[in-house]
Amino acid sequence: MTTLNTNHHNANRDHLFFNKKLGISYTENITTLSLWAPSAENVIWRIYDKGTAGRLIIETKLLKDQDGFWEASINKDLHDLFYTIQVKYQGQWLHEIPDLYATTTGVNGQRGMIYNPKETAPAQWDKDQYVSLKSYTDAVIYEMHVRDFTKHPESGVKDKGLFLGLTEESTHNSYGKTTALGHLEELGITHIHLLPVSDYCNLDERTPNEGYNWGYDPLNFNSLEGSYATNPYDGSQRVSEFKQMVYSLHKKGIGVVLDVVYNHTGIIEGNYFDQTEPGYFFRYHEDGVLSNASGCGNEFATEKLMARKYIIDSLKYWCTEYHIDGFRFDLMGIYDIETMNIIASELRKINPSILLYGEGWTADTSSLDESQRAVKNNTPQLENIACFSDNFRDIVKGPQFSDDSLGFISGLKGQEEDLKKAIIGGVSHPQVDPEYLINKGYAWAEKPTQVINYFSCHDDYTIYDKLKMVLPFEKEGLLIKRVQLAMAINMLSQGIPFFHSGVELLRTKKGIRNSYNAPDFINQVTWSSKKGSIAQLSKYIKHLIQLRKAVGAFRLQTQEDIAHNLIFMEEYHQGIVGFILRHKDKHSVFGHKLLVVFNNNSEAITVDIPKANWVEFDLQEYKTVGEPSSKTSITLEPISTSIYLML
Ligand code: CA
Repeated sequence: MTTLNTNHHNANRDHLFFNKKLGISYTENITTLSLWAPSAENVIWRIYDKGTAGRLIIETKLLKDQDGFWEASINKDLHDLFYTIQVKYQGQWLHEIPDLYATTTGVNGQRGMIYNPKETAPAQWDKDQYVSLKSYTDAVIYEMHVRDFTKHPESGVKDKGLFLGLTEESTHNSYGKTTALGHLEELGITHIHLLPVSDYCNLDERTPNEGYNWGYDPLNFNSLEGSYATNPYDGSQRVSEFKQMVYSLHKKGIGVVLDVVYNHTGIIEGNYFDQTEPGYFFRYHEDGVLSNASGCGNEFATEKLMARKYIIDSLKYWCTEYHIDGFRFDLMGIYDIETMNIIASELRKINPSILLYGEGWTADTSSLDESQRAVKNNTPQLENIACFSDNFRDIVKGPQFSDDSLGFISGLKGQEEDLKKAIIGGVSHPQVDPEYLINKGYAWAEKPTQVINYFSCHDDYTIYDKLKMVLPFEKEGLLIKRVQLAMAINMLSQGIPFFHSGVELLRTKKGIRNSYNAPDFINQVTWSSKKGSIAQLSKYIKHLIQLRKAVGAFRLQTQEDIAHNLIFMEEYHQGIVGFILRHKDKHSVFGHKLLVVFNNNSEAITVDIPKANWVEFDLQEYKTVGEPSSKTSITLEPISTSIYLML
């Protein structure tokens, strides 16, 4: 492995540049390029007519000031032209690259592109609004990959697999069932979370259908991925199509969260940061070897001022230019806590509702001490930033790293206390006894707004594949009941619910776990499934979301409120967890208390409940069943969620 000189005597004046604007500034009369590269000995700026090859039109040198800041201007209208920079470092010319701040690029991200941002805005874009949230717990997040979501032949979408595919209305499969954008609207989710849409390197944008990638191999962090555009050569096209997509979603009241991967680069040797200011942007061990907490070869040094500035500038750019509603930080455990808190406060100035969350872990060890990093156990030190709950995931479906592990939904018994811990959203509760927990790590959050509840996501098996693996002979009807149970726990728990696109369509990746580069037929959402019992599953999940939105008590914001208003049923039964939720909306059609009971047993079981006037609520039909009557016990159906209202 190559080691780099990390002794940056020139870089320790980096504080001088923290508020400088870097990258291209375009007007019709003049374009300026500003670059921070204090160790560079020379920098050439080249303008081309194409994104690759083509003709060199202008070549000029950037001028350096005494602090290592480089700049040059060209007095021409450069729109629709492409550019590179090339740095001379320690007597050697490094590679020609787009500058780090390039806001769009030619095909495959080899050159930056200069364009007029005003020409990329859809009509009414200036009236477009962020999706506002009173509380993080009001969000219902749906995780998807742009291409997976509309690629299937039965998506009914014209621009399959592209940003524009998410702008198309009134699309159907051959059974007449709503697909794509209309399906999202029907479900009632509040936010989509897109797997990385910034430019990544391991897919040839000229022939995207010959490959596939999730996108966790970032190349140009401020540019969009070209393979999702109708024309990957004209960099302004992807900008305008992505804006149309955001606008279409916003018109439906759906927010857009981007999965961002500033923790590492897709290319290790020769990455664009090291071609600009070699060795500055990454963490190293004392012997000069790259630290590798990403498990991909390097790890971004978020605590260094110009690295921190880079991330903050980039996020602010996405937020203002594209009206983005939130960010999900891949391997957030690599980021230092101070940077995360600055990100939250800076973005909140632009969009007060911005939704921020991340993975509170790393893929490998880091050279920066854990006490300084945004790992799950440090969640209380993060302001308005939530962490994924692996505890929730593991109790619901079974621990992630074991194929044959059982979770509550597959029939696990004896870990009911762990499910109670999941239901209260990672905070403390007087009725959850840490002594009885199998999975330690009690109360890692102070507030439910810090907790993302999920049981499956793009990583790992789909929930259907996981169930199929542990219960290979079970009939599909019963598997559907188990998926319903998983989604009911997800939607009726405290915290922020998050689910993987296609859970509601019994999505399968054909048993492939890490499908990051698997073909479309593995990864795509299969729209032809939406019929019969699977359409019913989709409807059930829509009703769960509707109930969560209707009853504020499922979306509490403090530990105290949860401890006060959520009372677990005391009597112990194997495979059963129930609670009564007191709610404040006095005149609600949902009475003044709700009883929710999860049963993972394969038989019907009768349990005692507090004597009161109860009426059952049918989630499949979203209505009460029969008349309210005084009851002291109820019968739980096999593998089910029962809901009763106290009137
Ligand atoms: Ca790309």
